[in-house]
Amino acid sequence: MKSPPKTAAFNPPPRVLMGPGPSAVSEAVLAAQARATIGHLDPDFTALMDEVKLLLRYAFRTDNDLTMPVSAPGSAGMECCFVNLIEPGETVIVCQNGVFGGRMKENVERIGASCVLVEDEWGAPVDLEKVERAFAEHPDAAALAFVHAETSTGACSDAKALCEIARRHGALAIVDAVTSLGGVPLEVDAWEIDAVYSGTQKCLSAPPGLSPVSFGARALEKISKRRARVQSWFLDVNLVMDYWSGDGGRSYHHTAPVNAIYALHEALRLLADEGLENSWARHSRLHKKLRDGLQALGLEFLVAEPHRLPQLNAVRVPDGVDEARVRAKLLADYHLEIGASLGPLAGKIWRIGLMGHACREENVALCLRALEDALREQGALKRAVA
Ligand SMILES: *Cc1c(COP(=O)(O)O)cnc(C)c1O
Repeated sequence: MKSPPKTAAFNPPPRVLMGPGPSAVSEAVLAAQARATIGHLDPDFTALMDEVKLLLRYAFRTDNDLTMPVSAPGSAGMECCFVNLIEPGETVIVCQNGVFGGRMKENVERIGASCVLVEDEWGAPVDLEKVERAFAEHPDAAALAFVHAETSTGACSDAKALCEIARRHGALAIVDAVTSLGGVPLEVDAWEIDAVYSGTQKCLSAPPGLSPVSFGARALEKISKRRARVQSWFLDVNLVMDYWSGDGGRSYHHTAPVNAIYALHEALRLLADEGLENSWARHSRLHKKLRDGLQALGLEFLVAEPHRLPQLNAVRVPDGVDEARVRAKLLADYHLEIGASLGPLAGKIWRIGLMGHACREENVALCLRALEDALREQGALKRAVA
């Protein structure tokens, strides 16, 4: 191409993000990201990196030294945990009750380890008894991996009990907390989670692109005893940690996404200002408000009440409703984005996110008003709404 393509500066349309992520980013976080870029080894930037590590320890409820953001999205945090902790030939028990467990299986198999899959229905939490049985059949399993908050279905699994099972069988617990962090209780130290990864674009409400991870003592010991080098150079935590650790000077590993770290820092500061428990309580309170309104519209939840995630509300599309037309109307008339669904649930549910900065009274009201309008337009309001 010899002549430049004709383009204009991009101005995103106004959107209220109530899907499965990315979630709405506050003005404060956007402003932080827009500040002047400085060098990634500048002493002022390395001081900021230290604060980010402390703020992440607060968010994860851990004292783990190895707590930092991987410079890539949540999927890279997942890969980081697996490539560092699992070696070829080992056995890993992976729980699958939605999309993301399937990706864990991919990671295990690509390492050359063998994956024992514990499957549950999409919309159900991980069944603890099935996990016990898997360990009885595979007592040599090196790790148990599961998704705490399954964003594809809205189901929350009992992470504390699953970690306890793993520990009892001498296996490491690898936990996907991409959607749970900041939205529901997650206790990395109290539950003795060995390795956990998250993302910036769900309940932390920073732009997508970073993946906070944390590794505990047992995980570090396993890494120190590896027979083979970690096959990914970029994700080898031994190398990355030399960059993120303050002692003995920092060595260049890669160039941190400086401005994205500004945004994460601000988002974590806002979370700390609100207080983690207050954030959990806000998600729970507004979820109940949304739930009552959705049920008044005649909509039914996919997940049974005790296992519902407040930050991801999966509701069934009523019979005869064109679900894509509803989403298109919400976007066109209300600038409102809600999520479609994936895999076996494709076309059957909507996923309404109440994540982080998007989890606010006015968004609950907007979503209910917009859905009522869209359902009425298709003659699908089960009963009159006052
Ligand atoms: C979003 C998500 C991921 C992947 O994160 P990306 O930032 O999209 O790579 C992984 N696991 C769960 C549960 C998620 O919701």
